[in-house]
Amino acid sequence: MIGRDGIEALDRRHVWHPYTPMDAWLETREGLVLDRAEGSRLFDVDGRSYLDGNASWWCAVLGHGHPRLTRAIEEQSRRMAHVPLAGIAHAPAAELASALIERAPQGLSRVFYSDNGSTAIEAALKLCLQYWHQNGAPRKTRFVTLDGAFHGETLGAAGLGGVEVFRRPFASVLLDTIRVSPSEGGFAQAFESLSQVLSREADQIAAVVLEPMVQGASGMQMYDARFLLEARELTRRHDVVLVLDEVFTGFGRTGPFWASEHAGIAPDVLCSAKGLSGGMLPFAATLVTERLFQGFSGAAERAFLYGHTFCGNPLGARLALEVLRVFDDEAILKRAEPKAKAISDAFQELASLPGVRAVRSLGMIGALDLSGPQGYLEQKGQEVYRQALRRGAYLRPLGNTVYVTPALNIPDDDLLTLLRIVREAVRAALSGTD
Ligand SMILES: *Cc1c(COP(=O)(O)O)cnc(C)c1O
Repeated sequence: MIGRDGIEALDRRHVWHPYTPMDAWLETREGLVLDRAEGSRLFDVDGRSYLDGNASWWCAVLGHGHPRLTRAIEEQSRRMAHVPLAGIAHAPAAELASALIERAPQGLSRVFYSDNGSTAIEAALKLCLQYWHQNGAPRKTRFVTLDGAFHGETLGAAGLGGVEVFRRPFASVLLDTIRVSPSEGGFAQAFESLSQVLSREADQIAAVVLEPMVQGASGMQMYDARFLLEARELTRRHDVVLVLDEVFTGFGRTGPFWASEHAGIAPDVLCSAKGLSGGMLPFAATLVTERLFQGFSGAAERAFLYGHTFCGNPLGARLALEVLRVFDDEAILKRAEPKAKAISDAFQELASLPGVRAVRSLGMIGALDLSGPQGYLEQKGQEVYRQALRRGAYLRPLGNTVYVTPALNIPDDDLLTLLRIVREAVRAALSGTD
């Protein structure tokens, strides 16, 4: 086995890291060199452990290495790891679709599989465009999103994105998207603009795409459920598809199983990934209503001629089914309630620290903004990251927004330690001490 030095040497020679200014990476020996993960802890090659403060990019909702999930993968890999889903049915894909629909907001009845959050969105976009194209409204080709939105990185999904630095180099080739802005007047203003845009241009608009309740990547920006309800009423009135991107918010992250439950609404399309496969395999699902599905019946060229090689992959589907069963059998949502309360209390307390501008929480999300400029490339958060790492927690601030999104079943003592480390790391970073 190669040790730390060997791994770092090969890494620095060949690996191009995501979202990473590579000059700085190549110059330093910062960053974790991990060997394994278990529960809510990551272990580096020297055996040092770090609490996983963000459930590995919001995916490991049941922690790392849950025995029922590893067993499901093991058994399924021996039985049948992969077959295409075109012209083939199998138990994992069929049972999972049924289980997802049973749990989904009412009205969703069909499941289209793909392999990550971006493709779940991509499928939703193509499906909306084709639906209108062949059902009497070919001018409906534009999308509406909120400023600060993040819906993934493929070109289609990136076109919806409202995080400017992610979009800038590609601006000239992205989808025609209308972005309503929460920046000046807050979300109330944004949803007011949404109403105006729909009144004016609904005949050109295919869909409104939203992250329900909280915009994750733009810094855990939270908004009131009444806006979601309003968006549902507006899109229905103007006959525009409502796509809810539950890639981050699904699987109990915000409290209820789906964030749309806060508003008691059902979208026309719901995208799920990340927690769907417990963070163990790339897997995604796009759920749609019967109305949309029926818009693809008739002649063969009206079919949805779209798919990905790993659509409905049996390993991923079997795993996702087990994730759902563990949610039930271990009463994950119920048992997360006091944990969510602990997060909320801890961040409320942090509000009084000098240098903390704002705090907010929802379900298993706690976030704070450091004072000073906001934005993905801001650096103060990076100092909190370093301070937390030294104290045994892995956080990954979004610019100057420091947040936690731990596994929903993080043990109580681990959670308290994580929250204590956040407090100490923020204090140390702001006072410039160790
Ligand atoms: C992460 C994320 C995506 C993209 O998912 P990938 O698996 O990274 O492609 C899309 N939407 C939201 C809300 C996300 O948080």
